[in-house]
Amino acid sequence: MTINAFSHNIPEKTFAKLNREGEFTRLAVSPGIINKHYTPAQFQTIAEVVGARGAIKYSASYSILLSIPTIELTTAKRKLEKVGLYIAKQGQIVAMKACDFCDGDKMEAAQITEELYQQLEGLEVPSRICINMNGCASACYNAVYDDIGLVYQKDSFDVYLGAVPMGKHAQAGELFMKKVSVQHIENLLQEIIRVYQERAYQKEPFYKFYKRTKDADFWQTIKCYENSSADSSRV
Ligand code: SF4
Repeated sequence: MTINAFSHNIPEKTFAKLNREGEFTRLAVSPGIINKHYTPAQFQTIAEVVGARGAIKYSASYSILLSIPTIELTTAKRKLEKVGLYIAKQGQIVAMKACDFCDGDKMEAAQITEELYQQLEGLEVPSRICINMNGCASACYNAVYDDIGLVYQKDSFDVYLGAVPMGKHAQAGELFMKKVSVQHIENLLQEIIRVYQERAYQKEPFYKFYKRTKDADFWQTIKCYENSSADSSRV
């Protein structure tokens, strides 16, 4: 047995090869932001919509990449969504991912994750950013290695900013704020996104923006405002 699967399974259907004439579209699908378990019906639908011409590949981002004939895209999306698959939005937007909350056993942060998804996913930003929510201090889905990392513990979040998510200079984000309450986390994230929208250069990645500006007064203002909001809400 060999571990080099390429020795007898050369991928002829990479997206680049399939899409030479632009007739294929790539979709990233998953069972949801939190759920990581596929059903047989979902896999059957994936096989059906990809068909003999398309391709299926798994990725490093908790999703499966489908190459689908563009002409069949509308029908394919409808079928995928009908069996409960989530299709990731593309482009220069805020995207969300999360751990699986221990397969649903540790769901304390699930509701706020859903709310943040409803409010933040899809907001336009200078360069695509990912908010990664992990449901406990184990942070086993590597929240600290995404643009905005949220680590939940006891009704609050530690917030990490500025990770370099990949490449030889990859590194974890810095702890930006500790113990931000569930009640205030959305405001804080809205403020972080707002300063990025307003002050970043065109297409400037978030980690470069944060590194360039992290000593600026506006970050301190955000921290002070959020701290004072939290304090006043405790009175
Ligand atoms: S980060 Fe914590 S809650 Fe989430 S899957 Fe890992 S151990 Fe479970």
